Amino acid sequence: MDLENSEKLEESSIYCANCRYCVLFRKSSGVDSAQYLLRVKCTQEKWRKKLGEEKMYKYFTVARRTVEHCPCYKEMGDLRTFIKILRKTLPVKDEVYNLKI
Ligand code: SF4
Repeated sequence: MDLENSEKLEESSIYCANCRYCVLFRKSSGVDSAQYLLRVKCTQEKWRKKLGEEKMYKYFTVARRTVEHCPCYKEMGDLRTFIKILRKTLPVKDEVYNLKI
């Protein structure tokens, strides 16, 4: 994907990252109790798997989370500016973080 295309916004979509109900949380890595991963979820539970379970996503993918319509969407600010900054600051892959210093 070229840089210009990666920075485009899908004008007809809602970007969940810019919604107050899209939240970041820590999830245990399952390997070491001091290690964790970052995940995002919709606190309105709008993200669902086919069988109805709540769906969560890896943090580094959050800028790609879009929905066509959402009655619960609560915009947090200027979308274009926010997504631009977010795309520049997100990790490029699923990172493991450590509580130990
Ligand atoms: S409430 Fe709707 S717009 Fe907000 S995070 Fe959930 S699915 Fe996305």
